[in-house]
Amino acid sequence: ISLFTTPIETLVNSTETFQKAIAGFRRMDEVLMSTPDVLDKPDARPLEVSAGAIEYRDVCFTYEDREIGADRRAGVERPVIDHLSLSIRPGETIALVGPSGGGKSTTCSLLPRFYDVQSGSITIDGQDVRDVTQESLRRAIGLVQQDVYLFDGTIRENIAYGRPGATNDEIAQAARRANIHDFIESLEDGYDTVVGERGGRLSGGQKQRIAIARVFLKDPKILILDEATSALDNESEEAVQESLERLAADRTTIIIAHRLSTIKGADEIATVEHGQVVERGTHEELLARGGTYARYYRMQFEGVRARELDEPAATAT
Ligand code: ATP
Repeated sequence: ISLFTTPIETLVNSTETFQKAIAGFRRMDEVLMSTPDVLDKPDARPLEVSAGAIEYRDVCFTYEDREIGADRRAGVERPVIDHLSLSIRPGETIALVGPSGGGKSTTCSLLPRFYDVQSGSITIDGQDVRDVTQESLRRAIGLVQQDVYLFDGTIRENIAYGRPGATNDEIAQAARRANIHDFIESLEDGYDTVVGERGGRLSGGQKQRIAIARVFLKDPKILILDEATSALDNESEEAVQESLERLAADRTTIIIAHRLSTIKGADEIATVEHGQVVERGTHEELLARGGTYARYYRMQFEGVRARELDEPAATAT
């Protein structure tokens, strides 16, 4: 069985990914205002982020609304996240890679507590995410997803969403860091330009940079980035990459990475497969190990066919 998505499968899967991203955003907006499933404890305290260390300890999770199949009734279904442990140092950038459906997005969505773990724990600077107020938790975490959600207001309002009450100067400063200020200034109405339904008047790369400006304004200690799989035009691509790197500097960052440059640029790589971290290390370390990451790397970036790799990979361990 091919464990990893081939480039062609990535294209085929992109519609599904897109829909999931939209669903994720709807959910995020929803939970920012109210909390349908996940509740604050009566004695919940505000999260106090100092260094920004993250620790997943033996985490298990299965979606409850999942269709109940025969396997599950028989009690043999594997959890989506299956005894996953991962500790992330303050300020570190860790790239999650691995097969489609392996659990990368789910791992990320447990940190801001979009869902609660069923066992194990996740802590930020030693505080269990279930013990702190959700408001403080989500203030500490910035999210940049593949499909950017913009509402039909002005560019200024869309950026200010990151920190309501921000001044015009602060908004422009965030836009500069996100490489979008000059573009905004070039528009007839500048920051007062109305973006249209779902940001329809802007390109994918421009929307992404507005979303990044939002996160600069929010200035969280912790970042979750879901790198776009779909191609942006070259100029946009470079501007987005550069501003994302700037955003990730000095913040603890988990990135669902698809580009080789991002993966190589990360401090460490974790391969997530069947809901577990199966390997972890730098690009060079993991390549030298000749395990799942090495296989993934060759398939994704060197165009070697899975079949040719099956045997050596199997005997490597
Ligand atoms: P991809 O690279 O395709 O985004 P991934 O590694 O991020 O994959 P997840 O999206 O975390 O993997 O998916 C892990 C498993 O959980 C998959 O079997 C997926 O179908 C399932 N899953 C994901 N989101 C949901 C959801 N909201 N409800 C039910 N099942 C889900």
